[in-house]
Amino acid sequence: MSGKRNLVIYNPCSLQHYKEYGIGIPMLNERVEKPFAYISQKYGVQATDEALFSKFGGEILKLAHSKEYCEKVENNPDQVVLDTYELIKDDGSYNRYDPSCATLPLSDFVKKALSHINGTILACESAMDSGFSYHLGGGMHHAMSFRPGGFCMFNDMVTAIKYLQQNGKIKNAVIIDMDAHKGDGTAQMTYSDDSIRSFSIHMKGGWPLDKEDKNDPSYIPSSFDIEVERDDDYLSLLKKGLEDFNPREDFAIVVHGADVYEKDELESASLIQLTKEEVLERDKITYNLLKDRGIPQAWVMAGGYGKYVHEIFTQFLDYSLDDQGVARV
Ligand SMILES: [Zn+2]
Repeated sequence: MSGKRNLVIYNPCSLQHYKEYGIGIPMLNERVEKPFAYISQKYGVQATDEALFSKFGGEILKLAHSKEYCEKVENNPDQVVLDTYELIKDDGSYNRYDPSCATLPLSDFVKKALSHINGTILACESAMDSGFSYHLGGGMHHAMSFRPGGFCMFNDMVTAIKYLQQNGKIKNAVIIDMDAHKGDGTAQMTYSDDSIRSFSIHMKGGWPLDKEDKNDPSYIPSSFDIEVERDDDYLSLLKKGLEDFNPREDFAIVVHGADVYEKDELESASLIQLTKEEVLERDKITYNLLKDRGIPQAWVMAGGYGKYVHEIFTQFLDYSLDDQGVARV
């Protein structure tokens, strides 16, 4: 068994089963299960050891999140989950949430979110060894240092980079975010940190950039932002933007949002509509730029909704694993 087999980090223990908690969110686990089944069959990739997904508990959060937020997670986890998935409206009524249908306790989601941090750390360690790794999970880019948001409880990318830094494995890193929505949590968490630069290419309008209060932290700029409008040439903007951003750091995490796909079903991601081929081209531009520069890269999933988005994850895994020469079974 070579190290090549753990280029993909995945265990079903990190999947979220929203229905069992009475939560109605159109994030389907098949977006993970279908790509994994495909690469298992084609490349012999096996699931990662489940125990590795709980190696780090709540203590790891302190690397990147505020003391107050860490205390809230510990003392009032249910409230953190309600906030993360926006389950209570301003008037106090439930929002796509029906606790009478729940069979499992809400606080389980804290453990799930921690498992995604563990997965992203594993992917980073694997990428440090082999140049590339893919975590079939993670990408919680709306989580800020002091609050959750947009279905994201903790920021796994910033936490993982802080972990690598603390252990002396890297000095600096970039986070390249290609989700349809701005990586506002990542921008907020890295704004005053010279050792992590953030890049985000996202919809010019819409959530999370639709707030009346322009002082909201969602407007804190990334190190490099590209705001895309419907008729823009996305791929040219990305290519030029990445060249200008000029990654030269020790490490990169790529946020592989699939909600730019024209068949994605989340209404709030509809301002960018790329074809399947265009999304693969997007991924190749970023993957090859980092590869050519010799920067180890760990990829995480982020957004992607509905019954077709698995195609986006599958096609990139197929391209990258083939390029990495992973043995076929
Ligand atoms: Zn998104």
